[in-house]
Amino acid sequence: MNIHEYQARELFAKFHVATQPGSVAFTPDEASQVAAKLGGKIVVKAQIHAGGRGKGTFKNGFKGGVHLCDTPDEAKDLATNMLGQVLVTHQTGPEGKEVGKIFVGQAVDITRELYFAILLDRATSAPVVIASTEGGVDIEAVAEHSPEKILRLAVNPFLGLQPYQTRLIAAKLGLTGKLMTQASKLFTNLYRLFLESDCSMVEVNPLVVTAQGELLALDAKFNFDDNALYRQPAIVAMRDVTEEDPREVAASEYALNYIGLDGNIACLVNGAGLAMATMDIIQYAGGSPANFLDVGGGATKEQVAAAFRIILGDPNVKGILVNIFGGIMDCNIIATGIVEAARETSLAIPLVVRLEGNNVAAGKKTLAESGLSLVTGDDILDAARKIVAAVAAH
Ligand code: GDP
Ligand code: MG
Repeated sequence: MNIHEYQARELFAKFHVATQPGSVAFTPDEASQVAAKLGGKIVVKAQIHAGGRGKGTFKNGFKGGVHLCDTPDEAKDLATNMLGQVLVTHQTGPEGKEVGKIFVGQAVDITRELYFAILLDRATSAPVVIASTEGGVDIEAVAEHSPEKILRLAVNPFLGLQPYQTRLIAAKLGLTGKLMTQASKLFTNLYRLFLESDCSMVEVNPLVVTAQGELLALDAKFNFDDNALYRQPAIVAMRDVTEEDPREVAASEYALNYIGLDGNIACLVNGAGLAMATMDIIQYAGGSPANFLDVGGGATKEQVAAAFRIILGDPNVKGILVNIFGGIMDCNIIATGIVEAARETSLAIPLVVRLEGNNVAAGKKTLAESGLSLVTGDDILDAARKIVAAVAAH
């Protein structure tokens, strides 16, 4: 799960990570009020679940999702240009994201822009700190063209981020004296935030040194481990479903493991491994999967029906492949769920079903007696070839 920058700033406050004052605004008038309260130079920032806003462009032609201005009226004008508009950045893809709120903050006089992030390194199963002197909007280019400017430091999960490590990172970032003290505190607090909030990533880019000699976190991108959300009600409350793929939001309501993709052959599978193998084999047979979907081993017929409805609700889907190997899963539950959902929506696209395993005879009978027009596959490759051919012919 992701959150907005303004919400990340609430976590900054809770964990004493230094940042600039400001707050979220949902209308141009609110933006002007916040700016008036803050006084002085103002920064106005579009809030979307994607980075690269500064260099992004709105579909209405307005350039940039991060702007500085001097008066509440200017803040209001900037908000008017951004709110309700679609911002395209290198992280949103060409479709962009609609801006529903903006952050209005006290502008900071920046002398240096640094990069600091903590993420979970899956290779070592431990947190790793990534830092660089070359923070700001071009960090991707730094990673590509001068990787030696990026520092990686593994953290022992039992010991945590040690004071000598925070000082080492500060030194490598060129932060000395009072700034090193501030940096050590900020890194330690951010590490606590990372651990206690069950983050898989916290990224601060830029982390800045101000003209007044303060170290401040000016931007924040957080990812949370979905498997830990059950014990993070305050984080879950920050979820903004308007930022998520509507197919995935619907799937999460039924506790389905669903990930939307760009292809046109939907698949409904039990087991994550089999689901991945199914996507591979669709590709191998010349097709392209529209989703990953693992209905799990203990799915109910309601969940299967919901999964089928989500698939059918996706306008890109031109064919469906059901691939079930029933171990714990009862094939007849799958069959009943499919028949139920297909009846409701009058199935108009090819459906290939490969069922095998637990209670398969009853499942095949349910499908055969349903009157649904479907093709059966003998094995996984046969089924994949049949759906690819059917979609091509349809
Ligand atoms: P991103 O483009 O989505 O990463 O958004 P950021 O919040 O990182 O803003 C992009 C850039 O805008 C930063 O790298 C800074 O250079 C600049 N910026 C953001 N806030 C301020 C500010 O308060 N003062 C100044 N002078 N520049 C800012
Ligand atoms: Mg940034």
